[in-house]
Amino acid sequence: MKLFEYMGYELIEKIKNMDISVQELLETCFQRIEETEPILHSFVNLSKEKALEKAKLLDRDLKNGKKIGSLYGLPLANKDLICVKDFPTTCGSKILKDYHPPYNAFVIKRLIQQNEAIHLGNTNMDEFAMGSSTENSYYGPTYNPWDLSRVPGGSSGGSAASIASGQAILALGSDTGGSIRCPASFCGVVGLKPTYGRVSRYGLVAFANSLDQIGTITKCVHDSALMLEIMSGKDPLDSTSVDNQIEKYTEELKKPIDKKILGVPEEFFGEGVDKEVKNVVKKAINKLEGLGAKIIDISIPHLEYTVATYYLLCMSEASSNLARYDGLRYGKMSDNLSGDVYDVFSRTRVENFGPEVRRRIFLGTYALSAGYYDMFYIKALKVRTLIKNDFVEAFKKCDAIVCPTMPSTAFKVGELINDPLQMYLADILTCPVNLAGIPALSLPCGFDSYNMPVGFQIIGDYFDEKGILNIGYQLEQVLDIYRKIAPVTKGGN
Ligand code: GLN
Repeated sequence: MKLFEYMGYELIEKIKNMDISVQELLETCFQRIEETEPILHSFVNLSKEKALEKAKLLDRDLKNGKKIGSLYGLPLANKDLICVKDFPTTCGSKILKDYHPPYNAFVIKRLIQQNEAIHLGNTNMDEFAMGSSTENSYYGPTYNPWDLSRVPGGSSGGSAASIASGQAILALGSDTGGSIRCPASFCGVVGLKPTYGRVSRYGLVAFANSLDQIGTITKCVHDSALMLEIMSGKDPLDSTSVDNQIEKYTEELKKPIDKKILGVPEEFFGEGVDKEVKNVVKKAINKLEGLGAKIIDISIPHLEYTVATYYLLCMSEASSNLARYDGLRYGKMSDNLSGDVYDVFSRTRVENFGPEVRRRIFLGTYALSAGYYDMFYIKALKVRTLIKNDFVEAFKKCDAIVCPTMPSTAFKVGELINDPLQMYLADILTCPVNLAGIPALSLPCGFDSYNMPVGFQIIGDYFDEKGILNIGYQLEQVLDIYRKIAPVTKGGN
């Protein structure tokens, strides 16, 4: 077995016991990157030299008897919109090509500075996290390690591909409408979107602040629990981060789930959901029943309005957030300085934003403009409350909700890129979770007839990451498919 095939929590034990050195582990990952990166393209920028330097240092400290941090020496892939001091953080955009943040994000401080994970590099993503396929990156698409003719999902496609292929052991992502869970589902790995406020967004480049949340992408549930324990908590630099108790998620994983009541919302198995996906997910639900959980029917009656509501809100927020990229405050200014200041601003933005980002700025600005604000933006906020209330009602009857993560498995590269509406509809089962602000986990539960992974979603009540990780872990153990590393080849279809 190669070192990159092990789980993070197993590698930590090996490092602690000095069965392996940190350097050995890092070299294995970089070798895997060297072999697969030319065909996968998971990364925008790598930090090889610094990573190997740090590995040596950690090995030396360990020999000298230093107490080791919880992630000591584990290779971490960071999504390219979470700030790493002095390292290019581009958001998959041309406009931030040369941006080197002057500070570390809160999660980087926790994972890397305090717990000694090692930063491998920043992973590819849809520009400013807008998309579900990682095709909207200025730096070109990432490919799915299970079938190179397919997309890895998005927008954290690079992070998911790096974990599925064994390039990295742990990864960070961000989820505004599904950007962690969608690629986790398409790449057959575990993606966790925590409750809004559980993890500080300090140092996360904003797309839609009221929906954005940083989370984890890993090979197994245990590793996600381990990362979340470290990343959670109040941060004075993010006023929306919450001071709720951080539980020892890793210690709760093994608890039996025979007292749990799991809700199955019929709307999440509707017409638009692929038959094979439904079948694989239903089989996994039977497994949970086999573990003693009680399965009941529930309803999320406003599901059909979630995509429209989500897109109105996220575009409105994006149009305001992205105003700062004018070449003066942030971003690369156009070389052509003719005309007045507005000409230069608009030229800068036209030259440096891709088509999807421009579309969203137009639509968002429209929805926020005088006369349309009440009709679109305010109305969407009201519908958001209805959707949130659907979940509040549902959690009076059950402990967690189980359903598919995505309506289909990974689609082909190029298939939806010219049909934005179809691409938006793919978020139907993930974006309601962001609108409500609750946590959700996606883990692989099987494969379709093209041998593409199917994602299983477990949605929890506010701050019940403990509960969904526990259920996810138990399901993962009975399914026992999580150790499969993707082949990084073209599939047979
Ligand atoms: N696919 C969604 C979008 O394009 C989700 C993006 C995200 O979660 N960052 O907006």
